[in-house]
Amino acid sequence: MKRKELIIVTGGAGFIGSHLVERLLADGFRVAVVDDLSTGRLDNLQTVARDPCLMIDLAPVSRSRALPRWMRQAHAVYHLAAAVGVELVVRAPIHVCRANLHETEAVLELAALRQVPVLLASTSEVYGRSARAEFREEDDLIIGPPSHARWTYACSKLMDEFLAMAYAQERGLPVIVARIFNTVGPRQTGRYGMVLPRFIEAAKNNAPLKVYGDGRQTRCFCWVLDTVEALVRLQRCAQARGQVFNVGSTEEISILQLARRVIRLLGSQSRVERVPYARAYAPGFEDLRRRRPRIAKLVRYTGFRPRTPLDEIILRTAAAQSPS
Ligand code: UDP
Repeated sequence: MKRKELIIVTGGAGFIGSHLVERLLADGFRVAVVDDLSTGRLDNLQTVARDPCLMIDLAPVSRSRALPRWMRQAHAVYHLAAAVGVELVVRAPIHVCRANLHETEAVLELAALRQVPVLLASTSEVYGRSARAEFREEDDLIIGPPSHARWTYACSKLMDEFLAMAYAQERGLPVIVARIFNTVGPRQTGRYGMVLPRFIEAAKNNAPLKVYGDGRQTRCFCWVLDTVEALVRLQRCAQARGQVFNVGSTEEISILQLARRVIRLLGSQSRVERVPYARAYAPGFEDLRRRRPRIAKLVRYTGFRPRTPLDEIILRTAAAQSPS
């Protein structure tokens, strides 16, 4: 029998990573995960833990002993390992810089030796302070100064993008950059700041939903399996190589509306509590007012447009989120 193709997923024990791993196994690939569990959890891979096609190395990418061996036979790499979450970024900026810069360099260097295609997971944060109604891949990026730790994340991921493009140009490495916008669903933890799992947990406990700032800032929340579908299609698309793509939903909602929607849909007794940014994060914290992707490019190259409605996303996530 023909040996199955091997796909590497760094950060495969993370929120998006674990859904991607399940999907790739279901598609018939062997999957090799490298994850240091800094923000991921082995529990996230519970459903596939016994699958003989899954291999796991619990180590940082740059120190993984298995990765060079896997890379020699790999068909493709999804590089999702990164330090994420606004709260974590504000609390531990040294860790964020190190993790995002060194680990990506290690992946690109190894992949370049064998010309293994890499999909780099980047972030909508790279658009920074831009006040545009809709972010396009070719826009200029306006990132705040280093005196604000928040921008550490954007800047380190943007450097990852430049590094990926540099490997494409100088070493001919097939790379695709996916700028992932707010993605939500089962297994996302609220521990590092993400809003929806926090709201759902609070609503289930009839506790206050803490809305930061005036609550009029908006986001578009994408169902995690839609994000995974987009990533898989991009990786398969040879024409997408060497390019940057937005990945996300375009259904926009303010955080205050989101809080009210969660309360209503879950039939909760919770109320909304406004919390000033300075108390929520740190004095001088800057939030982004709007963040909506233009996804015409994703649609053109892959034929896929995330469409799962927000109400369904909230209900499905709440059904899967265990009480804590
Ligand atoms: N937010 C909030 N309450 C929380 C966590 C977050 O009001 O408990 C706000 C946050 O300030 C931001 C939005 O919700 O305006 C989305 O935050 P998240 O950290 O999920 O994503 P990002 O800021 O990266 O878009």
